[in-house]
Amino acid sequence: MERKIVLTLFYVGVVTAVTGILITTTVYYGFFSKEMKDNLAHECRILARCYDWLSSPDELIRFTGENFRITLIQTDGTVLYESDAAAGTMENHLNRPEVQAAVETGAGSDTRYSDTIGTEDYYYAVRLDDGNVLRVSVQADSVFSLFESMLLIILLLIIGIVIVSSIVSVKLTDNLIAPFKQIPGMLEKNQTPQEICVYEELQPLIQEIRTARSKQEQMRQDFTANVSHELKTPLTVISGYAELIENGMAKTEECTLFAQKIRNESARMLVLIGDILRLSELDSAERSDFPDYVNLAAVAEECRERLSHTARQRGITITLSGSSLPVRGDKEEITELVYNLLDNAIKYNRENGLIEMEIADRTLTVTDTGIGIPKESIPRIFERFYRVDKSRSKMVKGTGLGLSIVKHIADHHGAEIKVESATNAGTSIMVRFR
Ligand code: ADP
Repeated sequence: MERKIVLTLFYVGVVTAVTGILITTTVYYGFFSKEMKDNLAHECRILARCYDWLSSPDELIRFTGENFRITLIQTDGTVLYESDAAAGTMENHLNRPEVQAAVETGAGSDTRYSDTIGTEDYYYAVRLDDGNVLRVSVQADSVFSLFESMLLIILLLIIGIVIVSSIVSVKLTDNLIAPFKQIPGMLEKNQTPQEICVYEELQPLIQEIRTARSKQEQMRQDFTANVSHELKTPLTVISGYAELIENGMAKTEECTLFAQKIRNESARMLVLIGDILRLSELDSAERSDFPDYVNLAAVAEECRERLSHTARQRGITITLSGSSLPVRGDKEEITELVYNLLDNAIKYNRENGLIEMEIADRTLTVTDTGIGIPKESIPRIFERFYRVDKSRSKMVKGTGLGLSIVKHIADHHGAEIKVESATNAGTSIMVRFR
C-alpha cells in the first residue's frame, strides 16, 4: 500500500506540474500574441495618419525597424513601397487576405506561419484616403519554436519537479500511514485511538477489531471449558468402572459389562478428540482457490452407500435425485460435509423414516422426516458443542461438533447454508456451492 500511495502522489505531482507548465506557456503565448496584434493595429493606424504628411512613399523608410516591415500597395495590387528588400517580392499583393479585407472593409489582418523557420508573421493593413493600402507586419517566434527555445529550461524544471515530487511523496506517505502502523501496538497496549491520534474515520474499524478480538477470546475460553467438560464426563465414567474392578467390587460377570462401558466411553472420547482435531485443522487451513472440480452427485452417492447399513438398521430409506454441475472444491472436505448432514438426518430421524437428497445445479438439499429443530435453536446448531435439548439428544450419540465442521467446510468453499425445520415434522438443510 505504501508503495502505491508514494507512486500515486508522485505521478499526481509530476503530471500536475508538467500540465501546469504547458498550460501556462500556452496561455502566456496567447496573451503575448494578442498584445502583439493589438499593438500592430494601433501602430498601423498611427502610421496611416502620418502618411498624409509624407512627400513620397519612400519616406516610409523613416518608420521601419529591424523587425517592422512596411508595405504600400495600390488598389490593383501593385507594390509601391516595401521596406524589407529581401522579402520584397514585387508580385501582385491583391490576393493577400489582409490586403483584400482592407480594400473591401477598410482594415484587415492575418497571421501566417512559417514551419521552415519556426516563425509567425502578423500582418495588419488599412485603406488610405487615396485608395492605396498601407500594410505593416512583425515577425515573432511561433509557439513551437518558443517551446523549443525554452526546452532546456523546461527539462531542468521537469527534473526539479521529479526530484521534489519524489521527496515530497515519500514524506507525505510516511506521515499519512504512520497512524496505521501504530494500530497493532495500540491494540496490544489497549490504548484508545485518541491517545495516539489515529484518524477519526478509523475508530469504528478499531472498535470492530477490538470487539472481534474479545469475541474470539471468549470463544476460545468457552471452547476450552467445553472440551474439558466433554472429556471429563467419559473419563469419570471410565475411572469409576475401573475403580470398581480394581477394588474387586465387580462380580466376574459384571466385569465384561464394565469393560464394554469403558470401551464405549473411550470410543466416544476418540470421536470427540478426532472432531476437535479436525476443527483445529480446518481453523488453520487457509482459504484457497480450489483447482479441482468435485462431482457432487457422486459424493452424495458415496455417502449414501457408506451410511446405508446404519440407515437400514432403523428402517430409513434414502433417495437421491437430480443432477449437478461440478463444483470447485476439495473432495475429501465436501464428502465430510455431506456425510455429516446425512449422518444427522439418520440420527435425528424417526424409525422407518425417509431421507431425500436432492441436487440441483450447485445446491445440495438433505431433507429428513425426523424430530426437527425448534425455531429458536436453528441459529445455534452450528456452534461448537451445541446440542438441541441435551436430554432429547441423549439417546443419540454425538459430540455437537458435526455441524461446526460442516459450517467450516462450507465457509472454506464460499458455500451458503440454509436450514428449514419444523419440530416433529423434519428438517431440510441446503448447501449452495459457488
Ligand atoms: P451432534 O454430534 O450432536 O449431531 P451436530 O453439530 O451435528 O452435533 O448437530 C448439532 C445439533 O443440531 C444436534 O445435537 C441436534 O440436536 C441438531 N440437529 C442436527 N441435525 C439435525 C436434524 N437433521 N434433525 C434434527 N436435529 C438436528
